[in-house]
Amino acid sequence: MAIDLRSDTVTRPSLGMREAIASAPVGDDVYGDDPTVNSLEERVAAMFGKEAGVFTPTGSLANQLAIRMLVNPGEELLAETNSHIVRAELGAAAVFSGITTRTWPANYGLLKAADALEIARPNSGPYLVSTTAIAVENTHNFGGGTVQPISEIKELRKGADELGLALHLDGARIWNAHIASGVSFAEYGQYFDTISVCLSKGLGAPVGSVMLSTTERVTKARVWRKRYGAGMRQIGLLAAAGHYALDNNIERLADDHRRAKEIAHAIHAIDSSLIDPTTVQTNIVGLDLAHLPFSAAEFATRCREKGLWISALGPKYARLVTHLDFDDNQCAEAIEILKIALVA
Ligand SMILES: *Cc1c(COP(=O)(O)O)cnc(C)c1O
Repeated sequence: MAIDLRSDTVTRPSLGMREAIASAPVGDDVYGDDPTVNSLEERVAAMFGKEAGVFTPTGSLANQLAIRMLVNPGEELLAETNSHIVRAELGAAAVFSGITTRTWPANYGLLKAADALEIARPNSGPYLVSTTAIAVENTHNFGGGTVQPISEIKELRKGADELGLALHLDGARIWNAHIASGVSFAEYGQYFDTISVCLSKGLGAPVGSVMLSTTERVTKARVWRKRYGAGMRQIGLLAAAGHYALDNNIERLADDHRRAKEIAHAIHAIDSSLIDPTTVQTNIVGLDLAHLPFSAAEFATRCREKGLWISALGPKYARLVTHLDFDDNQCAEAIEILKIALVA
């Protein structure tokens, strides 16, 4: 069978997870009657020290509900240039909420509070767009799984408070950040007004994200979730997978990080221009093929012909993501395939 490292979304629910799904008590969640959804929302909110949470089918919707609560139409959200909200949500903030975005660039997506604060323009009056919120992605996906330094997050909170700005955390992979940094979920939670977390990335659930904030914002977001067509019924089936993922699949992310590091070191040994292994902190290995005579797409094709699936995310940028359906044997095999594909 092929080894699939295109993303950590490619995992399939384990037998244990399927059993949890099969035995979940359920009810109609639009009526607030699904006990498994309710307990999941409360559980995740408590983990991050937030008042409430709302379950969503996707991380994009969790992000969009959050920023909709923070930014009015015609106002501005600041985010890093390669953030998921800016690049991978198909303009949803503009299309659905009338939110404009302005971006700052960062190497590896690494947060420096000053980069964001310097371009913030709150209360700009009738001439320029007013900034009302800043989004931080942790870990940073297109940055290569970068863990944002807690010192910069603190700095950003301080500066945002002085300017009267709200902060949103795109925490699709906050689980990976926690495992890599040792910073608690509650500590991450305290610096942000809204948070989105994904259960379907490294944690291995088939579907599901949660948006966290105050009870007031979450109650409003529930109305918007329904308006967007994502009011769902007996989704305790999906929430049960989320509970199972939180019970079983957080600590093991350390294995994903170790294997990503192994791959990075092996690639570095072949050609040091491709990756600096010290930048690989979590489960994402981003390769810069600028000095190679072939494109990322061609490299992906070469790998695929040998049974390894990877992503070509830019003309010269390839990405490999480790996950819970990828073990040490497959890691050794993947490294052999990469060696052949890189020299051939
Ligand atoms: C995957 C991801 C999301 C959410 O994606 P969906 O496919 O909509 O669930 C949000 N932010 C980041 C950084 C992601 O990697």
